[in-house]
Amino acid sequence: MRWKGERESDQIEDRRGMSVGRGGIALGGGGLLLVLLFALLTGTDPTQLLETVSQVQVGEGSSGQPAPVGAPSDESGRFAAVVLGSTEDAWSEVFAGRNQRYQPPRLVLFSGAVQSACGFAEAAVGPFYCPSDSQVYLDLSFFDELDQRFGAPGDFARAYVIAHEVGHHVQNLLGISSKVSAMQGRTSREGANALSVRLELQADCFAGVWGKIANRERDWLEPGDVEEGLAAAAAIGDDTLQRKAGGAVQPESWTHGSSEMRGRWLRRGLESGDIDACDTFSSD
Ligand SMILES: [Zn+2]
Repeated sequence: MRWKGERESDQIEDRRGMSVGRGGIALGGGGLLLVLLFALLTGTDPTQLLETVSQVQVGEGSSGQPAPVGAPSDESGRFAAVVLGSTEDAWSEVFAGRNQRYQPPRLVLFSGAVQSACGFAEAAVGPFYCPSDSQVYLDLSFFDELDQRFGAPGDFARAYVIAHEVGHHVQNLLGISSKVSAMQGRTSREGANALSVRLELQADCFAGVWGKIANRERDWLEPGDVEEGLAAAAAIGDDTLQRKAGGAVQPESWTHGSSEMRGRWLRRGLESGDIDACDTFSSD
């Protein structure tokens, strides 16, 4: 991918190096005393109170300083900013074609653990999108994991990961996510998992739509890039992950889809560049 020199998004909040945690928030001695005192007076569990206190601190590092917003200056941060910028351009174009306005998400970079409107999360859960605050959360060390643990190296593989999360944002804007979670509330666990798979495959397809449009706009793909993306999609398929973990392959427990499905839907988006080709809900 020839990404250097392309426009960088400024919708990046850089929380790397900021510590945050469940009850791990730096609470001064006086504050702690106050919480304990309050707990004594009211008979509330102090740990519960501390939890509440730490939740109030969302969006701040332990120093209480707000995280810087804008394109980072290091290489991997700039890469993320360029990819995010190209998703803004591609999706603005798609939305404009439907007489809608695209509201871009913010990308939060973090290291280790992060607090989002969806709760506390450790980097081990991988990159994620939180519909409640419309933000994508990414620990850039996931890219090393993609390379070393999942055997899926390459910049387009990394870009696909960001584009997949932005795909969830698009689903949120289009009202698909809320429809699906309402349906999930009315069905069995297996039914909910099956709906989750369709939602995830659609995010893969949307990532492909971005890939096609972004390349039309930037002409930045090099030989092997598409294959890198497809390899990454396959590497994080549920069947492959279950096999790698040494367990049985259980399709009813899948939440993201098999390697074959993920590669197929990403390819469909990449080839069509059209979100109407991404209707995973009415497909078998
Ligand atoms: Zn996803």
